[in-house]
Amino acid sequence: MTGPKHGTPLPCPFCGGNAIVWRKKDDSPPQQVWCCNSVTCGGQLELHEPGQNALAAWNTRAADPKVARLQAENAALNETLYKAIKIIVDIKAVLDRVEHPAP
Ligand SMILES: [Zn+2]
Repeated sequence: MTGPKHGTPLPCPFCGGNAIVWRKKDDSPPQQVWCCNSVTCGGQLELHEPGQNALAAWNTRAADPKVARLQAENAALNETLYKAIKIIVDIKAVLDRVEHPAP
């Protein structure tokens, strides 16, 4: 399924399933890549011109803009959470001083 000569297939861009690469026994580049969930997903790529590399094409895809947006949202939420935890810790320190003043 994979080999050092032509690389390792990335997961299916549609469902995240593993990819299956079909290779001829000669050294030509792979011409077909299928999603292992091909019955339910239908993800596949076939290239039939000599020298075309279906695996390289399968692995070449634009970054999903939804993923970038979710990563930015996650970073902002983490920052907000950190600030909230710091406020709670500061409030607890004040309450501890009020409840247990230094002699
Ligand atoms: Zn798939």
